[in-house]
Amino acid sequence: MSIFNDTKIAFQDKSTEQLKKAYLMFKGIEHPTLTNLGIKFLNFSIRNNFPFVKTVLKKTLFQQFVGGETREKSQKVVQAMFKHHIGSIFDYAVEGKDDEETFDVTCQEIKENIDFAEGNPAIPFVVFKPTGFGRFKLYEDVQAGKALTDTEKEEWQRVVKRYDEVCQLAHQKDVILMIDAEETWIQCAVDALVNDMKAKYNKEKAVIWNTIQMYRTGRLEYLEEDLERAKSKNYFLGYKFVRGAYMEKERERAQEMNYPDPIQPNKQASDDNYDSAICFVMDNLDKISAFFGTHNEKSTELVMTKMQEKGLAHDDPRIHFGQLYGMSDNITYFLGDKKYNTAKYLPYGSVKDVVPYLMRRAQENTSVAGQTGRELSLIMKEIKRRRTEK
Ligand SMILES: Cc1cc2nc3c(=O)[nH]c(=O)nc-3n(C[C@H](O)[C@H](O)[C@H](O)COP(=O)(O)OP(=O)(O)OC[C@H]3O[C@@H](n4cnc5c(N)ncnc54)[C@H](O)[C@@H]3O)c2cc1C
Repeated sequence: MSIFNDTKIAFQDKSTEQLKKAYLMFKGIEHPTLTNLGIKFLNFSIRNNFPFVKTVLKKTLFQQFVGGETREKSQKVVQAMFKHHIGSIFDYAVEGKDDEETFDVTCQEIKENIDFAEGNPAIPFVVFKPTGFGRFKLYEDVQAGKALTDTEKEEWQRVVKRYDEVCQLAHQKDVILMIDAEETWIQCAVDALVNDMKAKYNKEKAVIWNTIQMYRTGRLEYLEEDLERAKSKNYFLGYKFVRGAYMEKERERAQEMNYPDPIQPNKQASDDNYDSAICFVMDNLDKISAFFGTHNEKSTELVMTKMQEKGLAHDDPRIHFGQLYGMSDNITYFLGDKKYNTAKYLPYGSVKDVVPYLMRRAQENTSVAGQTGRELSLIMKEIKRRRTEK
């Protein structure tokens, strides 16, 4: 039996009313066809400003997966989780915009998140997405080694400047800054940029953390190379380990453009690769710190077992766990209860701006792709437990 099955702990912050609502919502997004139809309707309604749809969205998906419309409005959630030894990682959830003004606004928002996190144990990390700071196509062209026009060169310099400004501030304020990972055809450009930041700001400790996707082939080798690089240039490494979120897109592109699939051949191979990364970290803790961003119970247990074998304290500052807000509370609250370092990605933004994020969560949670069955059975279990407790 799973050690993460204690629903009393998992849902201690949720009222029975909230649980019933979450149950109906997960039930609603369980069916892929319905979800896809719903998403089309939602996109149309939001584009056309239907106030009724906004209201419904705010009371359902938004409430389940988002902290609030602003950082300040998310404070209630932050404090409630922190009472249970669970940190919050603000995720500025505005996506799909790629103009210079938006990139500057995002950069400013991340700086404010760093200020907010300074000396604040409830906010253990700050995070940003590479495409929040620059155009996707520009990253792609840089990675492909395409000759940039003068205007593009200036544009790229502005991207580099945004990275440098937030990394410098994080270093100055002693706040860990994580950079998300995206598609393989821009990720090398991102990695190169982040490696420069690591060499510059991780001399005393790991402040700038990159993300590594273990569903990719060759990533263990990359990790080994990176460790050698860090040793030879004398800096520390911090990594968020995830399996990876863009599998279908990656496979489709590889097939269309006729290059080898960059993704592990099957789920088991991704799982094995992820677990090998856990072992690699545990053998190199003098240089590497890690954040395991996963909803996978086996991998989470493996980290805990390895920590025990190494005699590490549950709150060893080099090891962290993380899940997304609204999902896998059974893992997060269990870890918090046992005083492991654990945190939730907590998205925030206006209802309109977080729609693409919510759509992805809905799609991820259909019965085919996701873990809805598990969420549903845990919620049911807790509702029943509360009934019999009365
Ligand atoms: C806190 C946090 C931060 C995250 N940040 C990022 C990020 O920066 N970048 C990013 O890309 N993702 C990110 N993710 C998402 C993550 O990559 C996974 O998509 C998601 O967490 C599901 O994987 P899992 O380990 O939780 O669990 P599981 O449910 O055990 O694994 C599902 C994952 O396994 C892999 N997989 C499934 N089927 C196959 C198959 N047939 N062949 C090969 N592999 C397969 C896929 O990666 C799939 O997402 C983040 C997740 C969390 C919790």
